[in-house]
Formats: sequence, C-alpha cells, structure tokens
Amino acid sequence: MVKIGIIGGSGLTNIDVLQSPEKKKVHTPFGSPSDLPTVGKISGVDVVVIPRHGPHHNIAPSLVNYRANIWAMKELGVTHILAPTAVGSLREEFHPGDIVFPDQFIDRTAKRQQSFYDGQVICHVSMAEPFCQQLRKLLQESATRLQLSHVGEGTVITIEGPRFSSKAESHLFRSWRADIINMTTVPEVVLAREAGICYAAIAMTTDYDCWRESEAPVTVDMILSTMKKNVQNVIKLVQDVLPCIRDSDCYCRHGIENALL
Ligand SMILES: [Zn+2]
Repeated sequence: MVKIGIIGGSGLTNIDVLQSPEKKKVHTPFGSPSDLPTVGKISGVDVVVIPRHGPHHNIAPSLVNYRANIWAMKELGVTHILAPTAVGSLREEFHPGDIVFPDQFIDRTAKRQQSFYDGQVICHVSMAEPFCQQLRKLLQESATRLQLSHVGEGTVITIEGPRFSSKAESHLFRSWRADIINMTTVPEVVLAREAGICYAAIAMTTDYDCWRESEAPVTVDMILSTMKKNVQNVIKLVQDVLPCIRDSDCYCRHGIENALL
C-alpha cells in the first residue's frame, strides 16, 4: 500500500483535483503543521496534502514548521512525498517554465531545525543521495509522457531567505555548480529521510534569479505570473505519476537504521 504526501508549495495551496477531501487533526511532538492535513484521493490513489506556507500562504520559509509537517505525514501513513517548489534558475539552459527533478542539494539555511533527534539520541543521517531515485525516475517518465519541458537532474541550493540573493551571491552559487535556488527544500528532504519516507522535489522554474546581466531584478509579480502557467503542468504531472508509484524496499526507508548514536 502506498500513500502519497503532497507538500503544496507556492501556487499549489488548493489542489482542487482532490477527491473526497477530509481534514485530519494530527498531534505532533513539534507543534502544529502548516495546516490541518487534508486526506483524499487523486487519480484513485490515497494522498495527504499539506500546504507548506499555510492555508493563507502567510508562513515565511524560515517559519514553516518542517518537523511538524513531516511528522504529520508519517503519522498518517505516508510512504512517499512529492514536494512542488518554486525555484529560480542559475543556468542558461534551465528555462523559466521548465520543471526540474533535483538529485542534490546545497544547504545555505541558517536557523532551522534539521532533525527530529534533539534529545539524548544523536542522528547522523546520510544525505549522499538526498532524493528518492525511484520517484525521480517515475517523475521523469511521466514528464516525458506528458511532453512537459523538464530537466531530469540538478543541484538545488536552499537559502534562508526571505530576501532574494545579491548578484555576488548568485554568481557564487553558480560557481558552486548549483543549478536552481529556493528557500524550502532543506530541511524538508532531510526530515523525510529521518522519517523513512521517500521524497522527491518537483521544482518549477520561475525566473533567472539575478545573475544574468540582461535580467531585470526578480519581482514577486514575475514569479507569480510564470507560476500560474507552471501550476497546471505540475497538477497534470501529479495526476499522471501517482498511479505508477509502487511500494518498494527503497533505500530511503532504511537511511535512519545506521544513523543513530
Ligand atoms: Zn525512495
């Protein structure tokens, strides 16, 4: 049995393709998730949806209770998480409108809880391969089937925000070989691994950040307008990929086993 968690990002707060939605109250040791999780079905598959930035999209990236969100998913029996996220592009060849399925991250966050284990037990979980390779493969196949413009791999750099980067930072991140930039993948992906849940990001490229000399500064309006177009594609992708996801003995489920001290 699979149950798919969807952590809806910017622009995906209300997924209206959700059948028989029902809000669930979940208590977590870390407080409340961004919103009451909604359970239901998409394409006949059990899903749990939590809007990352809350029902009114007013929880800033630094203030999202990532631990409560992932804990609630685990509590409700989620086996796989699909995580749509808006990203800026740090590469000419990653065009605004493209969907990216990152395979690596660089962490530039500064003030977030990255572990469920902050007591007696210490957890050093492996992040060598942070994203579920099986989920990424299914997403790539699905995007190809739907003829969506996409990139199969890439490194996402997660910054603390909420401000955007300076040009100097943007060039630095490019020199580090980061391909796309956002504010939420870390620590979400880390906590999913600690919880033994397969996790894949669906990154929607909205703009060229600020490194490109010809580019006007990134504005929220610019991002929102590209995102509107992207969101329909991401919903199509989710509807298509869900029935293909099978339960398997993935390495993501066992990462935690050798990580505790
Ligand atoms: Zn996996």
